[in-house]
This record gives sequence, structure tokens and C-alpha cells, in this order.
Amino acid sequence: MKDFRIGSGYDVHALGDGLRLVLGGVEIPHDKGCIAHSDGDVLIHALCDALLGSVSAGDIGLHFPDSDERYRGADSCLLLGEVCRMVRERGYEIGNADCTIAMQRPKLRPYIDMMRERLASVMSVGPERVSVKATTTERLGFEGEERGVSATAVVLVYRE
Ligand code: MG
Repeated sequence: MKDFRIGSGYDVHALGDGLRLVLGGVEIPHDKGCIAHSDGDVLIHALCDALLGSVSAGDIGLHFPDSDERYRGADSCLLLGEVCRMVRERGYEIGNADCTIAMQRPKLRPYIDMMRERLASVMSVGPERVSVKATTTERLGFEGEERGVSATAVVLVYRE
């Protein structure tokens, strides 16, 4: 009998004019980007929290505090790689991840498969194990008003 664990993650970043927009490790051309200490990859942050949650290992703020100068402008892919290492160190393998980004603009469809491949490569799993979805919020709330972007993630990990 496998020992299954699940984890969930959620993150929000405010959007600012003229900043880089990086989601799922992919830079997306846009007139706004996430205001953040790191590269502001809200999708990866939610995914890291889901992975950490699955093995009850705290959260991203505990391991990579934004008061730490080492993480200024940090490539969130490096954080994701480190989090996957922590999961495997505890004897678990990643079953799958399912993520949703809520953002009004731009249309993310053209970038979804690139994000899946990038995330899967950093996580050392096949891209069929990583799902990325995008939704608008029908112009409602901070995402709909283009003041911010949110992301949720659910992961399953297992140990034989
Ligand atoms: Mg964040």
C-alpha cells in the first residue's frame, strides 16, 4: 500500500506597471508584472507551498524568507527545485500537480504548455504529471480589475 499525501497552495501578488511577468518559469510579454522580492512567480510559489504542505514541511516563507537578500530577484525555479529535493529527501515521489492561475489579461493559453514543460523539467517529472490551467474572474475582484494575480496548486505525493 502506497503512502499518499496531498498538499494545497495559494499565492497572490500585486501587479505593477512595466515589471517582468514570469509565470510557471516562463517570461510572458505584458505591460504589467508582479511586485515581489523574488521574480514574483505566483504560480511557482503556490506550487512550492502545495509540495511543502504535502510533507508537512512548513511554507515557502519559512524556507525562503523575503527578508533574506539572497532571494532578491530570485529565479523561483531554483526555489521549486529545492522544494522538490526536500520532498524526495523525506522519501516521497511526486505523483502529479494541478495548478490554476487567475488573471484577467493577457490570454495565457499560448504559454500553458511551455509552463508545464518548464515546471516538469525543474521538478524532474514527466510533463503529463503537471497541469496548468488559467481562468479570468470575469472582471470581478483584484484579478479581474488587473490589480493582482492569484494562483492555487494541489499536489499528490507518494511513498512506496
Ligand atoms: Mg509569492
